[in-house]
Amino acid sequence: MPDTRQNSLRAGPDGTGRFGEFGGRFVSETLMPLILALEDEYERAKDDPTFWAEMDDLWEHYVGRPSPLYHASRLTEHLGGAKVYLKRDELNHTGAHKINNVLGQIILARRMGKTRIIAETGAGQHGVATATVCAKFGLQCVVYMGAHDVERQAPNVFRMRLLGATVVPVTSGRGTLKDAMNDALRDWVTNVRDTFYCIGTVAGPHPYPAMVRDFQSIIGKEVRWQMEKAEGRLPDTIVAAIGGGSNAMGLFHPFLDDPSVRIIGVEAGGKGVDDRMEHCASLTGGRPGVLHGNKTYLLQDDDGQILEGYSISAGLDYPGIGPEHSWLHDIGRAEYVSITDKEALEAFQLCCALEGIIPALEPSHALAHVMKIAPALPREHLIVMNMCGRGDKDIFTVAKHLGVEVKA
Ligand SMILES: *Cc1c(COP(=O)(O)O)cnc(C)c1O
Repeated sequence: MPDTRQNSLRAGPDGTGRFGEFGGRFVSETLMPLILALEDEYERAKDDPTFWAEMDDLWEHYVGRPSPLYHASRLTEHLGGAKVYLKRDELNHTGAHKINNVLGQIILARRMGKTRIIAETGAGQHGVATATVCAKFGLQCVVYMGAHDVERQAPNVFRMRLLGATVVPVTSGRGTLKDAMNDALRDWVTNVRDTFYCIGTVAGPHPYPAMVRDFQSIIGKEVRWQMEKAEGRLPDTIVAAIGGGSNAMGLFHPFLDDPSVRIIGVEAGGKGVDDRMEHCASLTGGRPGVLHGNKTYLLQDDDGQILEGYSISAGLDYPGIGPEHSWLHDIGRAEYVSITDKEALEAFQLCCALEGIIPALEPSHALAHVMKIAPALPREHLIVMNMCGRGDKDIFTVAKHLGVEVKA
C-alpha cells in the first residue's frame, strides 16, 4: 500500500496528480469523467484488502511471484568488484514485468463492471500481457498498434490474435507507439460505458502514473525482504532500464526514503546521445513538455514536435518518460544515464555466456551500466539489477547485429 507519510519521497503525487511540476492531467473535458471514475475506483480498491488478496493470489498462482533474487556469481567474479544480484522478473508468465501491472488494471476493470479492454502497444509486450489476462477472464480485448510496428513485430501480433485479441493497425501520424496511444484515448471517449483503457507504463494522465507504479512496486517490495534474507541489509545500488519507466519505478519506489540506497535509471542511448537524435534518452537528451495527458521530459525538436527516437530495443523507444522519474531527476534523488546499442549488445552476450540467462535487450542496457560501475566498487557493495524481461524475442535482432543469419 502506498506510503502517505509527510516528508516522504514516496508520498506523491499530490491531489492534482503532480510530482513537483511534472505529471498532472492534461486531457479534454470529454475524457475527464472517465479519468475521475477510474481514480475513484482505484482509491477505493487501494484500501480494500479483498482487492489485494485477489492480486496476491494471481501473482502467486498465475504470474509465478515472488520472482527470485539471484546472486550472479560468475558475473560478479568476472567484473571483480561489487556483488551483483539479478531480480528475476523475466521468469514471470509472458516473460516480463508488464503482467504485474496488467493484472491490477484488469481486476480494477472487473470491479467497475467493464467488459471491453483497450490497450496500446509498441513492441507488443504490453499488448501480449493484456491479451493474456483478458483471455484468462473472458474479456474482449482491442490492442492499438502502430502500422509500422505491426509489420516489425509480426510474432507478437500473431500471439495477441491467438489469445483472442483484435489488433488494430494505426496509420495516423507516423504509425508508431505515440500514435497508437492517441488512438486508444480516442476509442476510450467514444466507448465510455463498457471500456477500460489499460496503459502499459507509468505515463498518461493522473492516476495512471501512480497506479501503474503501485502495481509494479511488488518488484521493489520483494527485493527488500529478499535482500534482508540474503544479506541482512538493504542493497547499496539499484539499477533498472527505462522505456516509459514502469519496471524502474517498481524497483525504485520502495527505496526512495532510504538515502543509503543509490538509484540509477538507464535510458536507451541508441547510436549515441547527440543532435542526430538516434536515441531514446528522454531525460539525458530531452526537455519538458506535454504528451499523453502529462507533463514530463520528452524528445522534441526546436519547435516542440515530438520526435520518434531510436533504440535497438523496441521496448525502450517511447519518446517520453514517466513524470515521477522527471521529478526524481530534477530533485537529484535518482541518477539517469544512457547506454548505447553497442554496449547493450556486449552485456547481452556476457550475460548469456556467464550466467546462462538470455536477457531481453531492455535489461541488457541496465546490465551494461552495472558492468561499467561494478569493477570500481568494493566487494561488500551490493547491486541489484532488475532483469525485467527474457531475451527469446530478441535473438533475431541480435543475430542480425552480429552478422549471423538465423531463419525463424
Ligand atoms: C516494455 C518493456 C520495457 C520498457 O517499459 P518500462 O515501462 O520502462 O518498464 C523494458 N523491458 C521490457 C522487458 C519490456 O517488455
